[in-house]
Amino acid sequence: MRYISTRGKAEPFDFAHDKPKGFSEILLEGLAADGGLYVPEAYPQVSADELTAMRRMTYPELAFAILSKYADDIPADDLRRIVNETYTKENFGSKEIALVKKLEGNFYLLDLCQGPTLAFKDMALQFLGRLFEYALTKKNETLNILGATSGDTGSSAEYAMRGRKGIRVFMLSPLGRTSEFQRRQMYTLQDENIFNIATRGTFDDCQDIVKQINGDAEFKKKHHLGAVNSINWARIATQVVYYFRGYFKATDSTRSPQAKSNSGQVSFAVPTGNFGNILAGYVAKRMGLPIKHLILATNENNVLEEFFKTGVYRPRIGKEVHATSSPSMDISKASNFERYVFDFVGRDTKRMAELWGDLNKKGSFEISSDERTRTTENGFIAGSSTHADRLATIRSVYEKYNVLIDPHTADGVKVGLEHRQTVVPLVCIETAQPVKFAATIREAIGREPAVPEKFKKLGVLPERFQICDADAEEVKRFVAGAII
Ligand SMILES: *Cc1c(COP(=O)(O)O)cnc(C)c1O
Repeated sequence: MRYISTRGKAEPFDFAHDKPKGFSEILLEGLAADGGLYVPEAYPQVSADELTAMRRMTYPELAFAILSKYADDIPADDLRRIVNETYTKENFGSKEIALVKKLEGNFYLLDLCQGPTLAFKDMALQFLGRLFEYALTKKNETLNILGATSGDTGSSAEYAMRGRKGIRVFMLSPLGRTSEFQRRQMYTLQDENIFNIATRGTFDDCQDIVKQINGDAEFKKKHHLGAVNSINWARIATQVVYYFRGYFKATDSTRSPQAKSNSGQVSFAVPTGNFGNILAGYVAKRMGLPIKHLILATNENNVLEEFFKTGVYRPRIGKEVHATSSPSMDISKASNFERYVFDFVGRDTKRMAELWGDLNKKGSFEISSDERTRTTENGFIAGSSTHADRLATIRSVYEKYNVLIDPHTADGVKVGLEHRQTVVPLVCIETAQPVKFAATIREAIGREPAVPEKFKKLGVLPERFQICDADAEEVKRFVAGAII
């Protein structure tokens, strides 16, 4: 399997300039040299026989079967070991790893938030942490991960990288502006390779500092700085696995005889921010998984809803981004979206240059009616929800099924139910545990969710963090000092 850039030279591929690369080569890289994102040259296909065999696999077996198609330059025994070490009962609460909960006939939740930080990003990052350690050890290299977080994504990265050889994490968070749960989750990590930098400023200030430091090529190179951002292809490939899992569980004949009358198709509803989760669903469909609709749910930050409804893609500028009660979906632009655009323009790099030219000049682009038809054929449907919708959805799911969902999951359930078809099982992806967003839950049902046992002990651990001004030079000094 080789990987090309979404902005690669026009076909035929200019091998001299931008050779397709192997999985191990792109693993530790961010963007391709031309500013594009890496995608597989072609999607590996899963035959009907293979699909039947996969249905009986355990989660780690399934993860190996799928990931070995993408990471074919990692020796099979090594890959299997890393997968087996990642997807354990200890890490994810049960051997199921991704639980499918039936709410009623043909309506399911796919619970992806039993990992160490109680959010779906653990599904990929727990694997990535181990894979990075493996790849760095092999190359005898080190990596210093620099990131900014408003609270949620940072903790997944820290829990994935804690204690790993050759890796340090420097995570900026806005001092006093993360929720108490999130702060305790990050700052109580006692591992020496984790550095929490509490910044006197906002989340935007933190992001600006990371950008500024990344702009200093010399500093970046000298200190081996990198990222674990959501555009990493390995993250997407890892997320493909749970779509297969969710599909099998929702179509097990014992659970859902109706599925048989529908050539076995299933629809997924996905709360979407950077388009990473739902992109994995699309990739699963392209590999041959019978997915009917990919129902994309946004909150008030509805860049992608607008795109799928009108064909116009207009990323928001800073102050247009709303701070909502599903904060992990508060995005200005969807960083993985370019991968999908590349496909529906027929992987035509001239057309990509045209669209991205418009984006740079006018701040938006509009696709043709043929291209819009292709997005419909791919199964995408979109909708959005408001704060009031989230509260109402949390309340109604709780009253009807006695299940408490978090505000992000509620975005997905709200839009998913609007597009539900009786004969097609609907699987709504559950992306975080409600305890992470206790204030919103209180607003919805009048009380806060119980804190899970393993997090109660956070209360007694000391917090480890460094306070810095919102100043790139000060952060640089801290990073340089910590590495020596
Ligand atoms: C990151 C995140 C999302 C959005 O996922 P994308 O891959 O960015 O679309 C949704 N819900 C929660 C809880 C998240 O942490």
